[in-house]
Amino acid sequence: MPAVATPPRAAAAPVTEKKLPAAASHVDFNRITDEQFLIAAEHMKLEDEIQLLLRTPYRELVVQVPVRMDDGHLEMFHGYRVQYNGVRGPYKGGIRYHHEVDLSEVRSLAALMTWKTAIVDLPFGGAKGGVTCDPTKMSRKELQALTRGFTQKIDMALGPYRDIPAPDAGTNAQTMAWIMDEYGKKHGYTPAIVTGKPVNLGGSLGREEATGRGVTIITQEACKAYHINFKGASVAIQGFGNVGSWTAILMHQLGAKIVAVSDVVGGIWSEGGLDIPRVVEHCKSTGSVCGFKGARAIDNEGLLALDVDVLIPAALGGAITRRNVDGVRARLIIEAANSPITPHADEKLHARGIPVVPDILANAGGVTVSYFEWVQNLQQFNWTHEKVNLELEARMLRAWRSVYTRSVEGGTPLRIAAFVDALDKVAQATRQRF
Ligand code: GLU
Repeated sequence: MPAVATPPRAAAAPVTEKKLPAAASHVDFNRITDEQFLIAAEHMKLEDEIQLLLRTPYRELVVQVPVRMDDGHLEMFHGYRVQYNGVRGPYKGGIRYHHEVDLSEVRSLAALMTWKTAIVDLPFGGAKGGVTCDPTKMSRKELQALTRGFTQKIDMALGPYRDIPAPDAGTNAQTMAWIMDEYGKKHGYTPAIVTGKPVNLGGSLGREEATGRGVTIITQEACKAYHINFKGASVAIQGFGNVGSWTAILMHQLGAKIVAVSDVVGGIWSEGGLDIPRVVEHCKSTGSVCGFKGARAIDNEGLLALDVDVLIPAALGGAITRRNVDGVRARLIIEAANSPITPHADEKLHARGIPVVPDILANAGGVTVSYFEWVQNLQQFNWTHEKVNLELEARMLRAWRSVYTRSVEGGTPLRIAAFVDALDKVAQATRQRF
């Protein structure tokens, strides 16, 4: 039985300090987003000074969070909050718990949030946070202590008009409830300090499925634009977390044929299409999509190489790289994850005529409903689920039309068009402020 340590006893327990991770992952995300920025900035001939301002994060917080673990030992976690750019409004972006998170990845994700909020025209800047930890191996008690400790350490940089966190990979509504509670101890009841909260505690109806709903809306539009019949279209989805599973559920409801899904353990594939509600049930009861009856097993690499109409990477970054891009056979790719495709792979897909809808447009539904949640909290007035969905759809469609038109008129890939759209808005606000 693990010893439950009291403070004096625990002093003698072993102390673990995790080494500060140096670019833990095999992909340099910061380089990816910087390269994407430079391609677009060059294309639109953005002035050097504006480029310098937009390429530089405003503020980076690195904090250490000690947590007494269940077995009595003290663990030191490393956490980050990067406030990338706030010219268009308060900093906004999720908090990620993952064992490979480091400052460079958080910085790159914070930059993406800046462009994402601009594309859907939300009055927000961009930020991101992260803690290097493996939430799948931590108890509820440990996660709560970590979240409260992290909140205390970044408290001075947060605020409903300063910086508003949200969930990301490895965090959820429960994590947000702890952040709100911890922040409230010092500042009083402040639901607008965080979005993606449980609906009971001031969260918005429709926030949980918002990213998947946005991905679905954009996929329907992209299918129309690239002459794919959405009804009956074969779709493969990599990742079955919040974004992947909701995308699968909503697309299945609308008549697309989800032929394959996967998670960290592995994947399943059925040419005739998977019964998604049953896959969700199976995943809830076993913890993975694997072993679903009536489907064949497929690994993540196999899924990415399936001959499908639509491929949706909805897991972590760096899924499609120079290593596996030649195996991709999809007709259309929708980036539901952040940075799933490296610039080199992106170029290869473009050369082969495979359209890619970029992350900053495709997955902007989450932060869009976060904006609605923030607005509801500030007004202390709740919207119906229907109103949330309608407003989300209107914003996603507007953003899609503007990016797609720009791409057709300029003869550029959607990613460049999306970046130009975003940089234009942030640059304009910068010029007006300086
Ligand atoms: N983490 C999500 C994203 O990457 C949502 C951010 C938010 O709602 O602030 O877009």
